[in-house]
Amino acid sequence: MSGHKTLTMIKPVAFGKNYTGKILAKITEAGFTISAMKMTKLTIVQAQAFYNVHKERPFYNDLVEFMSSGPIVAAVLEKENAVEEYRKVIGATNPENADKGTIRDLYGTSLQANAVHGSDSDENAEIEASFFFSQLERF
Ligand code: GDP
Repeated sequence: MSGHKTLTMIKPVAFGKNYTGKILAKITEAGFTISAMKMTKLTIVQAQAFYNVHKERPFYNDLVEFMSSGPIVAAVLEKENAVEEYRKVIGATNPENADKGTIRDLYGTSLQANAVHGSDSDENAEIEASFFFSQLERF
């Protein structure tokens, strides 16, 4: 059975361009409810831990540096089949290939600065939600 939550981050460039409100509107208009949310800034060590699954990939160091370069907004989103549904709302990894009207199409500026993160599996959604939020911060 598919899960009902996913974890998103509004990444530093999108945050810096003041797209946070517009991105959150797209998320709620798509039928997600927000069950946890915070604004924070990752340290290098925290970004390394979050992206540990990518540590063998050539862009890992760039990604870690980028993700710790400025404030982000992290949120747990809930909806039936949330992981897959949210990936439809955000579009392809590279904004150039993202379907028109998706978050990465509208607010992404490069492959790396592609506006938002979205979990890739139910298992990772729970790991990522626990990374950012204690039980007291989840509603
Ligand atoms: P996602 O699940 O769609 O976010 O994509 P991936 O899990 O493949 O990659 C994680 C993140 O790494 C992406 O969202 C991008 O921010 C970044 N990324 C992916 N591929 C590249 C790349 O080739 N170069 C750089 N600099 N960043 C990349």
